[in-house]
Amino acid sequence: MNQKAVVVFSGGQDSTTCLFWALERFEEVVAVTFDYGQRHRLEIECAQRIAKELGVEHHILDMGLLSQLAPNALTRDDIPVQSGTNGNLPSTFVEGRNLLFFSFAAVLAKVKDFHHLVVGVSQTDFSGYPDCRNDFIKSLNVTLNLAMDYPFEIHTPMMWLDKAQVWAMADTMGKLSYIRENTLTCYKGVMGDGCGECPSCRLRRQGLERYLSEKEETQ
Ligand code: ZN
Repeated sequence: MNQKAVVVFSGGQDSTTCLFWALERFEEVVAVTFDYGQRHRLEIECAQRIAKELGVEHHILDMGLLSQLAPNALTRDDIPVQSGTNGNLPSTFVEGRNLLFFSFAAVLAKVKDFHHLVVGVSQTDFSGYPDCRNDFIKSLNVTLNLAMDYPFEIHTPMMWLDKAQVWAMADTMGKLSYIRENTLTCYKGVMGDGCGECPSCRLRRQGLERYLSEKEETQ
């Protein structure tokens, strides 16, 4: 297997940390971002800017079909962002998203003859998203290898990390400030530390506060 990787990259905290992680490990890295009609075009601009700053080849693929099929709070103004209650998934969940995105990323990887895929999914803070689970990734890896008769290896460096540990990983690579200031995780489209109120900002901020306080204690 060659040491070349495609990173599925949204410009958010997790996938940007993954991009740095991949750049430390692989001899060649390209990033792929999916345009599925996100309400916040800033998300795509943010990914573009980071890829450019890091000198990474960046592909933006049109996945508009996804929001046509599965209306959700990330693509539609009239659907509010709500946390999941009573066993329901949050309104930000997009049916089939990771299955489709990772499959298209694999097609790109094979066309380029890259064996590795890096994705920033985590089962720890997964909000019940079924396509962030380790079982799904393992199963998809087998399916992709069979579908294209090609030895892919899917890497999930964040699978068992919580948000505080993702910040720790960024800090270990010397990228905490860069990721804090230049990524977009907020559902309302506010860069960096975000709006502070949406579920995504709360998770990100709580993780950062926990990591920083733990770091202080050990110093
Ligand atoms: Zn927010």
